[in-house]
Amino acid sequence: EKAEIGLIGLGTMGSNLALNIAEKGHRIAVFNRTASKTDAFVENAGALKGRIVPCKSLAELADAIRPPRPVIIMVLAGKPVDEQIAALRDELSANDIIIDAGNANFHDTVRRFTELQGSGLTFIGMGVSGGEEGARHGPSIMVGGTQESWTRVEDVLTAISAKYKGEPCAAWLGPDGAGHFVKTIHNGIEYADMQMIAEIYGILRDGLAMAPKEIAPVFAGWNEGRLNSYLIEITAKVLEADDAETGKPVVDIILDRAGQKGTGKWSVIEAQQLGIPATAIEAAVAARVLSSFKAERLAAEKAYGTLEVERISGAKDALLKDLELALFAGKIAAYAQGFAVMEGASKEFGWNLPMPTIARIWRAGCIIRSQFLDTIAEAFGKSGGKGNLLMAPAFITMMKEAHPSLRRIVARAAEAGLPVPALSSALAYFDAYRQGRGTSNMIQAQRDFFGAHGFERIDAEGAFHGPWGMEQG
Ligand code: NDP
Repeated sequence: EKAEIGLIGLGTMGSNLALNIAEKGHRIAVFNRTASKTDAFVENAGALKGRIVPCKSLAELADAIRPPRPVIIMVLAGKPVDEQIAALRDELSANDIIIDAGNANFHDTVRRFTELQGSGLTFIGMGVSGGEEGARHGPSIMVGGTQESWTRVEDVLTAISAKYKGEPCAAWLGPDGAGHFVKTIHNGIEYADMQMIAEIYGILRDGLAMAPKEIAPVFAGWNEGRLNSYLIEITAKVLEADDAETGKPVVDIILDRAGQKGTGKWSVIEAQQLGIPATAIEAAVAARVLSSFKAERLAAEKAYGTLEVERISGAKDALLKDLELALFAGKIAAYAQGFAVMEGASKEFGWNLPMPTIARIWRAGCIIRSQFLDTIAEAFGKSGGKGNLLMAPAFITMMKEAHPSLRRIVARAAEAGLPVPALSSALAYFDAYRQGRGTSNMIQAQRDFFGAHGFERIDAEGAFHGPWGMEQG
């Protein structure tokens, strides 16, 4: 009996995705560059073993699948994907579908899509979020390609995806690079979410001198309210956990140096290219970079002096309430930026990205899943996803309630010397966004002064120059 689908790359994501597909009743052929991994994978597949066809070559893989063949590639992003596509082209035939499910840069996806055009093969660029657990039991799936190609793989993808109150978290989002672009912005938002949580943790740790086990219930409590989300839930769990070796809280023995694989940086690069401010995401990416300069930071601490802990005083209950609302306000601004970047890309590339659908398929399965995304889905459902999230009526109400807290927390953190780059960027974005009369009249005056760039007037149409003479320039 032939398999219905194939998968290349039995790493963390690929192996779990393959088990998920098999579990949903599909016969799947698998191949991995290192053959011993394929054997070990089948050996450990338990009851699902019968639905898995191990293959030792791509020719064997192609032969094991019933045409037209859908083949998922889940290998390291970049060159390995191009190599697999090149090798697969020789083995596949017309109407077969290649699905790249890794974290591709969407520019690569667009290029691969173009390269395969006219070959008879169909290409799908698919973003998958949810880590290991999501891949195994239900990820969020963001698909880019032709609508016709989506129709051909829709059944299996919706079957393996996460469900939010029964609704599958898998959808076709637009042509070629749309799925991978949306996945990239998902990750950019994830960076901002994580950074803002880390900043709040920093205020609790260094500002209030609270121990991990005292902070854990704070996050656990917030997880019951408006901040309810996977990232808040795991933050509480992380803070509860002890290191097996030393018995110390595990967060206290982890080095404060964050890694990154590129999607956060890509979000920022694309936002800049599109001319859409994504300052909270930028701050989060920069914070990870700065965190990696550990030796330099230690030297700087010596040069400038160590700040004492427990620098924030006052009524703790009120402060905790403020921290919760500050995080919520920061989150609103970060999501507004992420969705604005997607709106910008949608216009630039003519994708027509369905914002309400994006919010809906992020409600379960993915790393940023939360109750908040249901609120966004609802707001976008009403507005069609057009315009900045900060202008949706429900968000105006929420932000009016929450921004005073963000203001107080950023101010207190600044006074205490506690870095809150993402929260303060979120606040600055909000303050600049809601200011009807900004300060760029000064920028325009300066530009005209030194470069004769001209300016517009508030009281007349046309281009004007200031009264500054040549002698100043
Ligand atoms: P792993 O490191 O666990 O696995 C990598 C896989 O890629 C292995 O099967 C490896 O084969 C294969 N591979 C690497 N280089 C080549 C090559 N040159 N030719 C052929 N195969 C190659 O990675 P993950 O499963 O974590 O990630 C896979 C993709 O999924 C990446 O794009 C990643 O960014 C993305 N992703 C990961 C998530 C996660 O939480 N881990 C979440 C969402 C997406 P071999 O065994 O022979 O080395």
